[in-house]
Amino acid sequence: MQFQTLVPCNCTQCLGTENPYTYPLEKLHKRLKAGVYEVQCDNSYKDVDVRRLIDDVNLPRASEYRESQPQDTPLQRELEREKQKSLNINQIIKLSGQQRKKLLNALLDAFPTKFLLKQLLSFELDKKLESFAGGDNLQEVVFNVIETAEAEGWLEELVCSAKESNPKNALLIAITQEL
Ligand SMILES: [Zn+2]
Repeated sequence: MQFQTLVPCNCTQCLGTENPYTYPLEKLHKRLKAGVYEVQCDNSYKDVDVRRLIDDVNLPRASEYRESQPQDTPLQRELEREKQKSLNINQIIKLSGQQRKKLLNALLDAFPTKFLLKQLLSFELDKKLESFAGGDNLQEVVFNVIETAEAEGWLEELVCSAKESNPKNALLIAITQEL
């Protein structure tokens, strides 16, 4: 025997009554698939919006889930928040001076022009190089990029995307492994 989910009708005649007309959920989905967005209620013979019927059965489930959240004790929530915070802190890489130097050299090696660096930031990280990293020469620009990435917490993204764009660059491989 197959289990059927029955969706109660929400037409004006059925809504709120004890015996609304019901539609098997499966059949409603079948209608939608066929591009038929209305179904006739057998009680009122009115056309009912199929998508709203499905939404109505999904909504209580969604709100049940939401309501279950505040039942957590404040302490539990506090602990969860602390856990989340410490996770975030762990994800932020702090570079030593030597590592910063290595990363600088690796990035300079992998992205030998300002244009390439600009492309990496724009395509992979959705950042505009000019908005935060000025500088007269490429070395200065890359240095500013690293400092900003460190300060704003997207250094890991920077290193990973740089390596993905240049998977064979030995210096990048070395610094990625070190971090
Ligand atoms: Zn109805």
